[in-house]
Amino acid sequence: MLIERIWTANALRNFHYLIACEETGEALAVDPLEWRRCLAAAEVRGWQIRQILNTHEHGDHTGGNAGLVAASGARLLAHAGAARRIGGVDRGLAAGDIIRVGRTVELRCLDTPGHTLTHICVLADAEEPALFSGDTLFNAGVGNCHNGGQPELLYESFAQQLTQLPAATRIYPGHEYLARNLEFTLDREPGNQAAAALLLRAQEQDPAGGLVTTLADERRINTFMRLQEPEIIARLHLSFPDLPASPDERTVFLALRRLRNSW
Ligand SMILES: [Zn+2]
Ligand SMILES: [Zn+2]
Repeated sequence: MLIERIWTANALRNFHYLIACEETGEALAVDPLEWRRCLAAAEVRGWQIRQILNTHEHGDHTGGNAGLVAASGARLLAHAGAARRIGGVDRGLAAGDIIRVGRTVELRCLDTPGHTLTHICVLADAEEPALFSGDTLFNAGVGNCHNGGQPELLYESFAQQLTQLPAATRIYPGHEYLARNLEFTLDREPGNQAAAALLLRAQEQDPAGGLVTTLADERRINTFMRLQEPEIIARLHLSFPDLPASPDERTVFLALRRLRNSW
């Protein structure tokens, strides 16, 4: 499996991805808002974009569909429940569905509601597993629930699915928010040295660079994956005096999500 990450440098800080089969050169484009950049990147690599995947229905993920379909003839794939809102969907996806790219790549669909109610993440169960996580899991953070989402469902998607993936899974999110998210982690947990060290690297590097985290990294630097940390819970009590002395993980996640909304 070949992965090309495309940094858009737009105001929303979108990342796009091309996932290609090394034998056939067939490629799938993930959320190609800046579709001309995706097409140009595929041409440079000698790849043909045959499929487009939308992780969810927001315009900054779907806005390039029409242009890229017209230019490449690619089929459009999206969550079956979002197909009507997105329009032009050739294949509606559900949990467990397999997307094949060329001869060598298989991506498994995870139904991960929360950021919206119809959000798909796709997992490559390869030697080096990779998760294309859209706006559900960001580097060092999680998606908001402002535009059609539900924090309780977001928690369930993490608890039941994303935190269960192999530690070596590489994370490819829909936006570049690493430094900002690390600052939130450090606001919640000032003693987190892994987050402090990575923030220095993140501030120095161009987002187009190669910094990719794994799930093991996320467990160290993502406050939403550190729900039993005493320092995080102690600081939450300052903001939420009614919080139980030993809150469960769900309660901690939801309290952190609320704080992050206005942080
Ligand atoms: Zn979104
Ligand atoms: Zn987005």
